[in-house]
Amino acid sequence: MALKIIDQCISCGACEPECPNGAISEAADIYVIDPDHCTECYGFYATQQCADVCPVESCVMDADYPDTPVALAKKFRTLYPDQEMENTAKWHPPML
Ligand code: SF4
Ligand code: SF4
Repeated sequence: MALKIIDQCISCGACEPECPNGAISEAADIYVIDPDHCTECYGFYATQQCADVCPVESCVMDADYPDTPVALAKKFRTLYPDQEMENTAKWHPPML
């Protein structure tokens, strides 16, 4: 499942540099996440970095992109065909 940013985002910008996939960008009113590049941080971190740093809890799971762990692994491999995955053993199931 990809994450999305909801309207309570205050556009602080804290999440953008934390995304290992460059999936976060500034839009007209709030920051946005490109679901094609969001792996829930799978392959890099044990937790979702954007959600971890957001001061107003605006990074949430996007039910429109219900990727399974296998699908997330495939997305990672598509983005990084030659890169070793890190921390997959610690990676936890998607947040509810
Ligand atoms: S969950 Fe991870 S990969 Fe997805 S947008 Fe947030 S920081 Fe980027
Ligand atoms: S960290 Fe949260 S409030 Fe700041 S830009 Fe990202 S989603 Fe918006």
